[in-house]
Amino acid sequence: MIRFENVSVTYEDATETALHHVDAHIPEGELCLLVGPSGVGKSTLLGTVSGLVPHFTGGTLRGRVTVAGRDTRTHKPRELADVVGTVGQDPLAHFVTDTVEDELAYGMESLGLPPGTMRRRVEETLDLLGLNELRDRPIATLSGGQQQRVAIGSVLTPHPRVLVLDEPTSALDPGAAEEVLAVLQRLVHDLGTTVLMAEHRLERVVQYADQVLLLPSPGAPARLGDPAELMAV
Ligand code: ADP
Ligand code: ADP
Repeated sequence: MIRFENVSVTYEDATETALHHVDAHIPEGELCLLVGPSGVGKSTLLGTVSGLVPHFTGGTLRGRVTVAGRDTRTHKPRELADVVGTVGQDPLAHFVTDTVEDELAYGMESLGLPPGTMRRRVEETLDLLGLNELRDRPIATLSGGQQQRVAIGSVLTPHPRVLVLDEPTSALDPGAAEEVLAVLQRLVHDLGTTVLMAEHRLERVVQYADQVLLLPSPGAPARLGDPAELMAV
């Protein structure tokens, strides 16, 4: 579902390569954790999947990244909305509207769907994420865990096959983090969504992972494998 073929990224003003020759394949319907020390290139790698790299960051991408067969270099992030949804650490940075319901609808705006389909998808996503009672609430009045669920919901309404998350629980307390992880697990199991998630608090999330993609240190080869096996390294 997500394929990295000899992927390297260099930023213009940097002396070092931010990512070196990454080769990996993440199959459909798995939750894969992306781990490694700070600065090793985790956000950069996620950016190559969502299309932020190279379209918005100014980096140079070599090699090829495909998501559901689509080359992320030849598509702008907006053109990938129905393939890959992207969520960052800070849900507040993500929002463009005021209320939960408007935010869920906004993600579909570029798709040209009929109004009835858009309404149905908003309802379905409110149910899926347990947000029904909060639908009319201003997002700013919600808890951190609720806000992160809205951020996830807003990228789910285009029905992406892949979800990419950059430390989605790092700003949350343990209870709220559990809430978000339970939602992700449900997406993988019930909808067959493929999830790639960067995370540094491994003890919190490793039980949810099917695979781990490890970037051990800058320049070292990426390793993809079983959580127990890689965590023992
Ligand atoms: P991580 O997410 O693992 O902390 P990043 O992908 O953020 O790593 O960063 C990898 C390397 O690329 C770091 O050396 C970082 O300073 C550099 N870098 C990241 N984004 C940019 C950018 N937009 N311009 C220049 N250098 C960047
Ligand atoms: P519509 O275009 O009417 O919304 P689709 O044919 O695209 O209908 O898909 C409807 C089905 O997709 C439903 O059975 C629903 O359970 C499922 N679904 C719900 N959310 C998602 C999602 N985020 N990604 C993929 N499928 C989803």
